[in-house]
Amino acid sequence: MKALDELTFDNRFARLGDAFSTHVLPEPLDEPRLVVASDAAMALLDLDPTVAETPVFAELFGGHKLWAEAEPRAMVYSGHQFGSYNPQLGDGRGLLLGEVYNAAGEHWDLHLKGAGQTPYSRMGDGRAVLRSSIREFLASEALHALGIPSSRALCVIGSSTPVWREKQERGAMVLRLARSHIRFGHFEYFYYTKKPEQQAELAEHLLNLHYPDCREQPEPYLAMFREIVERNAELIAKWQAYGFCHGVMNTDNMSILGITFDFGPFAFLDDFDAHFICNHSDHEGRYSFSNQVPIGQWNLSALAQALTPFISVDALKEALGLYLPLYQAHYLDLMRRRLGLTTAEDDDQKLVERLLKLMQNSGVDYTLFFRRLGDESAALAVTRLRDDFVDRAGFDAWAELYKARVEREGDGTEEQRRARMHAVNPLYILRNYLAQNAITAAESGDYSEVRRLHEVLSKPFEEQAGMEQYAQRPPDWGKHLEISCSS
Ligand code: AMP
Ligand code: MG
Repeated sequence: MKALDELTFDNRFARLGDAFSTHVLPEPLDEPRLVVASDAAMALLDLDPTVAETPVFAELFGGHKLWAEAEPRAMVYSGHQFGSYNPQLGDGRGLLLGEVYNAAGEHWDLHLKGAGQTPYSRMGDGRAVLRSSIREFLASEALHALGIPSSRALCVIGSSTPVWREKQERGAMVLRLARSHIRFGHFEYFYYTKKPEQQAELAEHLLNLHYPDCREQPEPYLAMFREIVERNAELIAKWQAYGFCHGVMNTDNMSILGITFDFGPFAFLDDFDAHFICNHSDHEGRYSFSNQVPIGQWNLSALAQALTPFISVDALKEALGLYLPLYQAHYLDLMRRRLGLTTAEDDDQKLVERLLKLMQNSGVDYTLFFRRLGDESAALAVTRLRDDFVDRAGFDAWAELYKARVEREGDGTEEQRRARMHAVNPLYILRNYLAQNAITAAESGDYSEVRRLHEVLSKPFEEQAGMEQYAQRPPDWGKHLEISCSS
Protein backbone atom coordinates (compact mmCIF):
# COMPACT_ATOMS: atom_id res chain seq x y z
CA MET A 1 0.00 0.00 0.00
CA LYS A 2 1.30 3.40 -0.96
CA ALA A 3 0.93 6.89 0.46
CA LEU A 4 0.03 9.68 -1.96
CA ASP A 5 3.60 10.91 -2.33
CA GLU A 6 4.82 7.43 -3.25
CA LEU A 7 3.17 7.19 -6.68
CA THR A 8 5.62 6.42 -9.48
CA PHE A 9 5.21 8.31 -12.73
CA ASP A 10 6.29 7.44 -16.25
CA ASN A 11 4.71 9.98 -18.60
CA ARG A 12 4.93 8.22 -21.92
CA PHE A 13 2.29 10.24 -23.76
CA ALA A 14 3.76 13.56 -22.58
CA ARG A 15 7.10 12.46 -24.06
CA LEU A 16 5.55 12.40 -27.54
CA GLY A 17 5.90 16.17 -27.33
CA ASP A 18 4.10 19.38 -28.18
CA ALA A 19 2.53 18.19 -31.42
CA PHE A 20 0.33 15.87 -29.35
CA SER A 21 -0.46 17.88 -26.24
CA THR A 22 0.17 21.22 -24.55
CA HIS A 23 1.50 21.87 -21.08
CA VAL A 24 -1.20 23.51 -18.93
CA LEU A 25 -1.41 23.85 -15.16
CA PRO A 26 -4.67 23.01 -13.38
CA GLU A 27 -6.70 25.95 -12.10
CA PRO A 28 -7.48 25.16 -8.46
CA LEU A 29 -11.02 24.93 -7.08
CA ASP A 30 -11.98 27.01 -4.05
CA GLU A 31 -12.33 25.11 -0.77
CA PRO A 32 -11.80 21.65 -2.26
CA ARG A 33 -13.43 18.80 -0.39
CA LEU A 34 -13.81 15.07 -0.89
CA VAL A 35 -17.23 14.08 -2.18
CA VAL A 36 -16.57 10.41 -2.83
CA ALA A 37 -13.65 8.09 -3.57
CA SER A 38 -13.50 4.56 -4.94
CA ASP A 39 -11.45 2.10 -2.90
CA ALA A 40 -11.39 -0.25 -5.89
CA ALA A 41 -9.94 2.48 -8.13
CA MET A 42 -7.45 3.50 -5.44
CA ALA A 43 -6.27 -0.13 -5.39
CA LEU A 44 -5.32 0.18 -9.09
CA LEU A 45 -2.66 2.68 -8.01
CA ASP A 46 -1.77 0.62 -4.90
CA LEU A 47 -3.06 3.55 -2.83
CA ASP A 48 -4.05 3.04 0.77
CA PRO A 49 -7.79 3.90 0.74
CA THR A 50 -7.52 5.90 3.98
CA VAL A 51 -5.49 8.62 2.20
CA ALA A 52 -8.72 9.79 0.53
CA GLU A 53 -9.75 11.38 3.83
CA THR A 54 -6.55 13.42 4.21
CA PRO A 55 -6.59 17.14 3.28
CA VAL A 56 -3.75 16.69 0.78
CA PHE A 57 -5.94 14.31 -1.27
CA ALA A 58 -8.55 17.03 -1.90
CA GLU A 59 -5.73 19.51 -2.62
CA LEU A 60 -4.12 17.23 -5.19
CA PHE A 61 -7.34 16.32 -7.00
CA GLY A 62 -8.81 19.79 -6.57
CA GLY A 63 -5.94 21.26 -8.59
CA HIS A 64 -4.00 22.94 -5.74
CA LYS A 65 -0.96 20.71 -5.67
CA LEU A 66 0.97 18.54 -8.07
CA TRP A 67 3.50 15.78 -7.71
CA ALA A 68 6.96 16.88 -8.84
CA GLU A 69 6.92 14.16 -11.53
CA ALA A 70 3.46 15.02 -12.87
CA GLU A 71 3.38 16.71 -16.30
CA PRO A 72 -0.12 18.10 -16.79
CA ARG A 73 -1.03 18.31 -20.46
CA ALA A 74 -4.09 18.96 -22.59
CA MET A 75 -4.31 16.50 -25.50
CA VAL A 76 -5.26 17.61 -29.00
CA TYR A 77 -7.82 15.67 -31.03
CA SER A 78 -10.75 16.27 -33.36
CA GLY A 79 -13.70 14.11 -34.30
CA HIS A 80 -17.13 13.64 -35.82
CA GLN A 81 -19.90 15.12 -33.68
CA PHE A 82 -23.43 14.04 -34.62
CA GLY A 83 -22.11 13.00 -38.01
CA SER A 84 -20.22 16.19 -38.90
CA TYR A 85 -16.49 16.64 -38.71
CA ASN A 86 -15.31 19.14 -36.11
CA PRO A 87 -11.64 19.95 -36.73
CA GLN A 88 -11.09 21.66 -33.40
CA LEU A 89 -11.58 19.65 -30.27
CA GLY A 90 -9.10 18.52 -27.64
CA ASP A 91 -9.04 18.51 -23.85
CA GLY A 92 -10.99 21.71 -23.21
CA ARG A 93 -11.50 21.12 -19.53
CA GLY A 94 -9.45 18.11 -18.56
CA LEU A 95 -5.75 17.46 -18.15
CA LEU A 96 -3.68 14.35 -18.38
CA LEU A 97 -1.66 14.74 -15.17
CA GLY A 98 0.67 11.89 -15.97
CA GLU A 99 0.93 8.12 -16.08
CA VAL A 100 1.38 6.16 -12.88
CA TYR A 101 2.45 2.54 -12.78
CA ASN A 102 1.51 0.13 -10.05
CA ALA A 103 3.34 -2.80 -8.46
CA ALA A 104 1.93 -5.13 -11.13
CA GLY A 105 3.59 -2.91 -13.77
CA GLU A 106 0.30 -1.56 -15.15
CA HIS A 107 0.28 2.06 -16.29
CA TRP A 108 -2.74 4.21 -15.51
CA ASP A 109 -3.41 7.66 -16.95
CA LEU A 110 -4.43 10.17 -14.30
CA HIS A 111 -6.83 12.60 -15.95
CA LEU A 112 -8.29 15.50 -14.02
CA LYS A 113 -11.62 16.61 -15.52
CA GLY A 114 -12.85 20.12 -14.75
CA ALA A 115 -9.30 21.45 -14.28
CA GLY A 116 -9.79 24.81 -16.01
CA GLN A 117 -9.25 26.35 -19.42
CA THR A 118 -6.80 25.07 -22.01
CA PRO A 119 -5.95 26.10 -25.59
CA TYR A 120 -8.80 23.75 -26.65
CA SER A 121 -11.54 25.30 -24.48
CA ARG A 122 -13.00 27.37 -27.33
CA MET A 123 -15.84 29.30 -25.62
CA GLY A 124 -16.00 27.00 -22.59
CA ASP A 125 -14.99 27.80 -19.03
CA GLY A 126 -12.91 24.66 -18.57
CA ARG A 127 -15.03 23.56 -15.66
CA ALA A 128 -17.24 20.61 -14.77
CA VAL A 129 -20.16 20.90 -12.37
CA LEU A 130 -20.79 18.71 -9.34
CA ARG A 131 -23.77 16.85 -10.84
CA SER A 132 -21.95 15.72 -13.99
CA SER A 133 -18.84 14.77 -12.01
CA ILE A 134 -20.92 12.60 -9.68
CA ARG A 135 -22.68 11.01 -12.66
CA GLU A 136 -19.36 10.18 -14.34
CA PHE A 137 -17.95 8.77 -11.12
CA LEU A 138 -20.96 6.56 -10.39
CA ALA A 139 -21.28 5.35 -13.98
CA SER A 140 -17.61 4.44 -14.46
CA GLU A 141 -17.46 2.42 -11.29
CA ALA A 142 -20.91 0.84 -11.79
CA LEU A 143 -20.11 -0.26 -15.35
CA HIS A 144 -16.87 -1.80 -14.19
CA ALA A 145 -18.72 -3.71 -11.45
CA LEU A 146 -21.13 -5.04 -14.10
CA GLY A 147 -18.20 -6.37 -16.10
CA ILE A 148 -18.51 -3.71 -18.81
CA PRO A 149 -15.15 -2.19 -19.83
CA SER A 150 -15.00 1.48 -18.81
CA SER A 151 -12.69 4.25 -17.80
CA ARG A 152 -12.53 4.32 -14.01
CA ALA A 153 -12.98 7.09 -11.48
CA LEU A 154 -10.80 7.61 -8.43
CA CYS A 155 -12.72 10.41 -6.77
CA VAL A 156 -14.89 13.49 -7.03
CA ILE A 157 -13.72 16.70 -5.39
CA GLY A 158 -16.36 19.35 -4.72
CA SER A 159 -15.83 23.04 -4.13
CA SER A 160 -17.38 26.45 -3.59
CA THR A 161 -16.25 27.72 -7.02
CA PRO A 162 -19.28 29.15 -8.86
CA VAL A 163 -19.85 27.81 -12.36
CA TRP A 164 -22.58 29.09 -14.69
CA ARG A 165 -24.72 26.68 -16.67
CA GLU A 166 -28.49 27.21 -17.01
CA LYS A 167 -28.14 28.47 -13.45
CA GLN A 168 -25.29 28.94 -11.02
CA GLU A 169 -23.78 25.67 -9.87
CA ARG A 170 -20.58 24.60 -8.10
CA GLY A 171 -17.44 23.40 -9.81
CA ALA A 172 -16.05 19.94 -9.19
CA MET A 173 -13.31 17.71 -10.52
CA VAL A 174 -13.35 14.01 -11.22
CA LEU A 175 -10.10 12.08 -11.40
CA ARG A 176 -10.48 9.65 -14.28
CA LEU A 177 -8.27 6.61 -14.73
CA ALA A 178 -7.75 4.74 -18.00
CA ARG A 179 -4.94 2.72 -19.52
CA SER A 180 -4.93 5.32 -22.29
CA HIS A 181 -6.90 8.45 -23.17
CA ILE A 182 -6.33 8.10 -26.91
CA ARG A 183 -9.60 8.43 -28.83
CA PHE A 184 -10.64 7.71 -32.42
CA GLY A 185 -10.50 11.50 -32.76
CA HIS A 186 -6.74 11.58 -32.15
CA PHE A 187 -6.17 9.70 -35.38
CA GLU A 188 -8.72 11.82 -37.21
CA TYR A 189 -6.90 14.98 -36.11
CA PHE A 190 -3.57 13.96 -37.63
CA TYR A 191 -5.25 12.57 -40.74
CA TYR A 192 -7.30 15.67 -41.53
CA THR A 193 -4.49 18.09 -40.69
CA LYS A 194 -2.27 16.03 -43.03
CA LYS A 195 0.47 15.16 -40.56
CA PRO A 196 1.34 11.59 -41.57
CA GLU A 197 4.60 11.51 -39.61
CA GLN A 198 2.94 12.39 -36.36
CA GLN A 199 0.09 10.08 -37.11
CA ALA A 200 2.59 7.25 -37.58
CA GLU A 201 4.25 8.21 -34.30
CA LEU A 202 0.90 7.98 -32.54
CA ALA A 203 0.17 4.60 -34.15
CA GLU A 204 3.58 3.29 -33.06
CA HIS A 205 2.97 4.55 -29.53
CA LEU A 206 -0.38 2.77 -29.41
CA LEU A 207 0.98 -0.42 -30.92
CA ASN A 208 3.95 -0.62 -28.59
CA LEU A 209 2.15 0.23 -25.38
CA HIS A 210 -1.37 -1.05 -25.84
CA TYR A 211 -1.45 -3.60 -28.66
CA PRO A 212 1.99 -5.26 -28.39
CA ASP A 213 0.71 -8.64 -29.66
CA CYS A 214 -0.19 -7.03 -32.99
CA ARG A 215 3.52 -6.37 -33.54
CA GLU A 216 3.95 -10.09 -34.17
CA GLN A 217 1.43 -10.02 -37.03
CA PRO A 218 2.52 -9.58 -40.69
CA GLU A 219 0.57 -6.27 -40.87
CA PRO A 220 0.68 -4.81 -37.35
CA TYR A 221 -1.50 -1.75 -38.07
CA LEU A 222 -4.18 -3.87 -39.68
CA ALA A 223 -4.05 -6.35 -36.79
CA MET A 224 -4.48 -3.46 -34.38
CA PHE A 225 -7.46 -2.05 -36.28
CA ARG A 226 -9.03 -5.49 -36.35
CA GLU A 227 -8.67 -5.75 -32.59
CA ILE A 228 -10.20 -2.30 -32.12
CA VAL A 229 -13.17 -3.49 -34.20
CA GLU A 230 -13.45 -6.66 -32.08
CA ARG A 231 -13.28 -4.78 -28.80
CA ASN A 232 -15.93 -2.30 -29.87
CA ALA A 233 -18.26 -5.05 -31.07
CA GLU A 234 -17.96 -6.71 -27.67
CA LEU A 235 -18.34 -3.44 -25.75
CA ILE A 236 -21.49 -2.40 -27.57
CA ALA A 237 -22.95 -5.90 -27.19
CA LYS A 238 -22.55 -5.43 -23.44
CA TRP A 239 -24.18 -2.00 -23.51
CA GLN A 240 -27.16 -3.41 -25.40
CA ALA A 241 -27.47 -6.50 -23.22
CA TYR A 242 -27.47 -4.41 -20.02
CA GLY A 243 -29.50 -1.47 -21.29
CA PHE A 244 -26.77 1.18 -21.22
CA CYS A 245 -27.34 4.20 -23.41
CA HIS A 246 -24.18 6.30 -23.88
CA GLY A 247 -25.93 9.31 -25.38
CA VAL A 248 -23.04 11.06 -27.20
CA MET A 249 -21.21 8.52 -29.34
CA ASN A 250 -19.17 11.13 -31.19
CA THR A 251 -15.84 9.80 -32.42
CA ASP A 252 -13.98 12.03 -29.95
CA ASN A 253 -15.78 10.12 -27.19
CA MET A 254 -14.74 6.69 -28.48
CA SER A 255 -11.77 5.11 -26.76
CA ILE A 256 -9.15 3.44 -28.91
CA LEU A 257 -9.06 0.69 -26.25
CA GLY A 258 -12.75 -0.20 -26.65
CA ILE A 259 -13.81 0.97 -23.20
CA THR A 260 -16.82 3.10 -22.25
CA PHE A 261 -15.54 6.64 -22.26
CA ASP A 262 -16.64 10.26 -21.74
CA PHE A 263 -19.92 10.28 -19.89
CA GLY A 264 -22.54 12.86 -20.75
CA PRO A 265 -26.30 12.42 -20.59
CA PHE A 266 -26.00 8.60 -20.42
CA ALA A 267 -28.74 6.42 -18.91
CA PHE A 268 -29.49 2.83 -18.07
CA LEU A 269 -32.94 1.84 -19.34
CA ASP A 270 -35.64 1.63 -16.72
CA ASP A 271 -38.55 0.32 -18.86
CA PHE A 272 -37.28 -1.48 -21.93
CA ASP A 273 -37.46 0.90 -24.88
CA ALA A 274 -35.43 0.20 -28.01
CA HIS A 275 -36.03 3.78 -29.21
CA PHE A 276 -34.98 5.47 -25.99
CA ILE A 277 -33.03 8.73 -26.43
CA CYS A 278 -31.25 9.78 -23.27
CA ASN A 279 -29.77 13.00 -24.64
CA HIS A 280 -32.54 15.55 -24.95
CA SER A 281 -30.59 17.63 -27.47
CA ASP A 282 -30.39 14.57 -29.78
CA HIS A 283 -33.54 15.49 -31.72
CA GLU A 284 -33.09 12.95 -34.50
CA GLY A 285 -32.31 10.09 -32.18
CA ARG A 286 -28.94 9.49 -33.80
CA TYR A 287 -27.70 8.02 -30.52
CA SER A 288 -30.90 6.28 -29.47
CA PHE A 289 -30.51 2.98 -27.65
CA SER A 290 -30.92 0.68 -30.66
CA ASN A 291 -28.95 3.00 -32.94
CA GLN A 292 -25.84 2.47 -30.85
CA VAL A 293 -25.17 -0.72 -32.80
CA PRO A 294 -24.95 0.82 -36.32
CA ILE A 295 -23.32 3.95 -34.88
CA GLY A 296 -20.54 1.74 -33.48
CA GLN A 297 -19.83 0.68 -37.05
CA TRP A 298 -20.14 4.24 -38.37
CA ASN A 299 -17.55 5.39 -35.84
CA LEU A 300 -15.20 2.54 -36.74
CA SER A 301 -15.56 3.56 -40.40
CA ALA A 302 -14.54 7.11 -39.48
CA LEU A 303 -11.47 5.68 -37.77
CA ALA A 304 -10.81 3.45 -40.79
CA GLN A 305 -10.86 6.52 -43.04
CA ALA A 306 -8.19 8.10 -40.86
CA LEU A 307 -6.07 4.97 -41.15
CA THR A 308 -6.07 4.86 -44.96
CA PRO A 309 -2.48 6.19 -45.11
CA PHE A 310 -1.36 2.96 -43.39
CA ILE A 311 -3.79 0.23 -44.40
CA SER A 312 -5.32 -0.63 -47.77
CA VAL A 313 -8.99 0.22 -48.21
CA ASP A 314 -9.82 -3.40 -49.01
CA ALA A 315 -8.22 -4.64 -45.81
CA LEU A 316 -9.99 -1.96 -43.78
CA LYS A 317 -13.33 -2.91 -45.32
CA GLU A 318 -12.76 -6.55 -44.55
CA ALA A 319 -11.95 -5.75 -40.92
CA LEU A 320 -15.03 -3.53 -40.64
CA GLY A 321 -17.07 -6.47 -41.91
CA LEU A 322 -16.22 -8.32 -38.70
CA TYR A 323 -18.13 -5.85 -36.56
CA LEU A 324 -21.75 -6.86 -37.03
CA PRO A 325 -21.38 -10.66 -36.86
CA LEU A 326 -19.13 -10.31 -33.81
CA TYR A 327 -21.56 -7.94 -32.17
CA GLN A 328 -24.44 -10.34 -32.81
CA ALA A 329 -22.54 -13.33 -31.44
CA HIS A 330 -21.56 -11.52 -28.23
CA TYR A 331 -25.01 -10.07 -27.76
CA LEU A 332 -26.78 -13.37 -28.23
CA ASP A 333 -24.35 -15.10 -25.90
CA LEU A 334 -25.03 -12.53 -23.17
CA MET A 335 -28.79 -12.63 -23.66
CA ARG A 336 -28.79 -16.43 -23.51
CA ARG A 337 -26.99 -16.19 -20.21
CA ARG A 338 -29.42 -13.55 -18.96
CA LEU A 339 -32.21 -16.03 -19.76
CA GLY A 340 -30.39 -18.75 -17.84
CA LEU A 341 -29.56 -20.76 -20.96
CA THR A 342 -26.24 -22.55 -21.20
CA THR A 343 -26.64 -24.16 -24.63
CA ALA A 344 -27.32 -22.62 -28.03
CA GLU A 345 -30.29 -23.29 -30.31
CA ASP A 346 -31.07 -21.76 -33.70
CA ASP A 347 -34.24 -20.05 -32.53
CA ASP A 348 -32.70 -18.31 -29.49
CA GLN A 349 -32.36 -15.02 -31.32
CA LYS A 350 -36.10 -15.10 -32.04
CA LEU A 351 -36.87 -15.97 -28.43
CA VAL A 352 -34.95 -12.88 -27.30
CA GLU A 353 -36.50 -10.59 -29.93
CA ARG A 354 -40.00 -11.74 -29.09
CA LEU A 355 -39.45 -11.08 -25.40
CA LEU A 356 -38.05 -7.60 -26.03
CA LYS A 357 -41.03 -6.72 -28.21
CA LEU A 358 -43.40 -7.76 -25.42
CA MET A 359 -41.38 -5.78 -22.89
CA GLN A 360 -41.39 -2.76 -25.18
CA ASN A 361 -45.18 -2.87 -25.61
CA SER A 362 -45.83 -3.20 -21.89
CA GLY A 363 -43.07 -0.93 -20.56
CA VAL A 364 -41.55 -3.69 -18.44
CA ASP A 365 -38.59 -2.85 -16.21
CA TYR A 366 -35.58 -4.21 -18.09
CA THR A 367 -33.31 -4.94 -15.13
CA LEU A 368 -35.88 -6.34 -12.72
CA PHE A 369 -37.46 -8.65 -15.28
CA PHE A 370 -34.28 -10.68 -15.73
CA ARG A 371 -33.47 -10.66 -12.04
CA ARG A 372 -36.95 -11.96 -11.16
CA LEU A 373 -36.80 -14.56 -13.92
CA GLY A 374 -33.91 -16.18 -12.07
CA ASP A 375 -35.49 -16.08 -8.61
CA GLU A 376 -37.22 -19.43 -9.01
CA SER A 377 -37.92 -22.19 -11.52
CA ALA A 378 -38.83 -21.07 -15.03
CA ALA A 379 -42.44 -22.19 -14.59
CA LEU A 380 -42.96 -20.30 -11.32
CA ALA A 381 -41.08 -17.21 -12.46
CA VAL A 382 -43.11 -16.71 -15.65
CA THR A 383 -46.37 -17.20 -13.74
CA ARG A 384 -45.42 -14.37 -11.42
CA LEU A 385 -44.01 -12.10 -14.15
CA ARG A 386 -47.02 -12.31 -16.49
CA ASP A 387 -48.81 -9.64 -14.44
CA ASP A 388 -46.28 -7.06 -15.68
CA PHE A 389 -47.44 -7.53 -19.28
CA VAL A 390 -50.43 -5.86 -20.81
CA ASP A 391 -50.53 -8.44 -23.57
CA ARG A 392 -51.01 -11.49 -21.32
CA ALA A 393 -51.78 -13.84 -24.18
CA GLY A 394 -48.62 -12.73 -25.97
CA PHE A 395 -46.55 -13.25 -22.87
CA ASP A 396 -48.12 -16.65 -22.16
CA ALA A 397 -47.21 -17.80 -25.66
CA TRP A 398 -43.62 -16.65 -25.10
CA ALA A 399 -43.55 -18.29 -21.67
CA GLU A 400 -44.54 -21.65 -23.18
CA LEU A 401 -41.67 -21.44 -25.65
CA TYR A 402 -39.29 -20.40 -22.89
CA LYS A 403 -40.30 -23.20 -20.52
CA ALA A 404 -39.93 -25.76 -23.29
CA ARG A 405 -36.55 -24.31 -24.19
CA VAL A 406 -35.39 -24.47 -20.57
CA GLU A 407 -36.65 -28.03 -20.27
CA ARG A 408 -34.75 -29.16 -23.38
CA GLU A 409 -31.45 -28.15 -21.94
CA GLY A 410 -32.03 -29.77 -18.54
CA ASP A 411 -32.02 -26.90 -16.12
CA GLY A 412 -30.15 -28.40 -13.17
CA THR A 413 -31.54 -27.67 -9.72
CA GLU A 414 -33.46 -24.50 -8.90
CA GLU A 415 -30.52 -23.48 -6.73
CA GLN A 416 -28.09 -23.80 -9.65
CA ARG A 417 -30.42 -21.86 -11.93
CA ARG A 418 -30.72 -19.03 -9.42
CA ALA A 419 -26.97 -18.80 -8.82
CA ARG A 420 -26.20 -18.90 -12.54
CA MET A 421 -28.77 -16.24 -13.42
CA HIS A 422 -28.16 -13.92 -10.47
CA ALA A 423 -24.46 -13.89 -11.38
CA VAL A 424 -25.30 -12.18 -14.71
CA ASN A 425 -28.51 -10.30 -13.88
CA PRO A 426 -27.90 -7.33 -11.59
CA LEU A 427 -30.36 -6.39 -8.88
CA TYR A 428 -29.01 -2.85 -8.67
CA ILE A 429 -28.44 -0.56 -11.61
CA LEU A 430 -27.55 3.14 -11.84
CA ARG A 431 -31.03 4.46 -12.50
CA ASN A 432 -31.21 8.13 -13.40
CA TYR A 433 -33.45 8.91 -10.49
CA LEU A 434 -31.09 7.25 -8.00
CA ALA A 435 -28.23 9.37 -9.34
CA GLN A 436 -30.49 12.42 -9.15
CA ASN A 437 -31.37 11.80 -5.49
CA ALA A 438 -27.68 11.46 -4.64
CA ILE A 439 -26.88 14.65 -6.57
CA THR A 440 -29.64 16.67 -4.90
CA ALA A 441 -28.29 15.69 -1.46
CA ALA A 442 -24.69 16.39 -2.52
CA GLU A 443 -25.61 19.82 -3.85
CA SER A 444 -26.78 20.70 -0.35
CA GLY A 445 -23.54 19.36 1.14
CA ASP A 446 -24.62 15.86 2.14
CA TYR A 447 -22.40 13.30 0.43
CA SER A 448 -23.68 10.23 2.28
CA GLU A 449 -26.15 9.25 -0.47
CA VAL A 450 -23.51 9.37 -3.24
CA ARG A 451 -21.26 7.19 -1.13
CA ARG A 452 -24.01 4.71 -0.27
CA LEU A 453 -25.16 4.44 -3.89
CA HIS A 454 -21.57 3.90 -5.05
CA GLU A 455 -21.20 1.17 -2.44
CA VAL A 456 -24.42 -0.61 -3.48
CA LEU A 457 -23.50 -0.43 -7.18
CA SER A 458 -20.05 -1.86 -6.55
CA LYS A 459 -21.74 -5.26 -5.90
CA PRO A 460 -24.66 -5.14 -8.32
CA PHE A 461 -25.28 -8.89 -8.42
CA GLU A 462 -25.33 -9.41 -4.65
CA GLU A 463 -28.48 -8.82 -2.66
CA GLN A 464 -27.50 -6.40 0.12
CA ALA A 465 -29.35 -6.18 3.43
CA GLY A 466 -31.34 -3.00 3.97
CA MET A 467 -30.87 -1.78 0.37
CA GLU A 468 -34.30 -2.75 -1.03
CA GLN A 469 -35.02 0.85 -2.00
CA TYR A 470 -32.24 0.69 -4.62
CA ALA A 471 -33.84 -2.30 -6.34
CA GLN A 472 -37.22 -0.75 -7.15
CA ARG A 473 -38.79 0.57 -10.31
CA PRO A 474 -38.42 4.35 -10.48
CA PRO A 475 -41.18 6.64 -9.28
CA ASP A 476 -42.99 8.45 -12.11
CA TRP A 477 -40.92 11.63 -11.83
CA GLY A 478 -37.79 9.51 -12.09
CA LYS A 479 -38.70 8.14 -15.51
CA HIS A 480 -38.91 11.49 -17.19
CA LEU A 481 -35.76 13.24 -16.04
CA GLU A 482 -34.13 15.38 -18.68
CA ILE A 483 -30.38 15.26 -18.38
CA SER A 484 -28.73 18.37 -19.66
CA CYS A 485 -25.77 18.20 -22.01
CA SER A 486 -24.20 21.32 -20.45
CA SER A 487 -22.16 19.47 -17.89
P1 AMP B 1 -17.93 16.52 -24.60
O1 AMP B 1 -19.29 16.84 -25.14
O2 AMP B 1 -17.85 16.57 -23.09
O3 AMP B 1 -17.36 15.27 -25.14
O4 AMP B 1 -16.98 17.70 -25.07
C1 AMP B 1 -16.76 18.05 -26.42
C2 AMP B 1 -15.63 19.06 -26.49
O5 AMP B 1 -15.97 20.26 -25.78
C3 AMP B 1 -14.31 18.59 -25.90
O6 AMP B 1 -13.28 19.16 -26.67
C4 AMP B 1 -14.36 19.17 -24.51
O7 AMP B 1 -13.08 19.33 -23.95
C5 AMP B 1 -15.03 20.51 -24.75
N1 AMP B 1 -15.75 21.01 -23.57
C6 AMP B 1 -16.88 20.53 -23.03
N2 AMP B 1 -17.25 21.25 -21.96
C7 AMP B 1 -16.34 22.24 -21.81
C8 AMP B 1 -16.16 23.33 -20.92
N3 AMP B 1 -17.02 23.56 -19.92
N4 AMP B 1 -15.09 24.12 -21.08
C9 AMP B 1 -14.22 23.91 -22.08
N5 AMP B 1 -14.33 22.92 -22.97
C10 AMP B 1 -15.38 22.09 -22.85
MG1 MG C 1 -15.75 14.31 -24.99
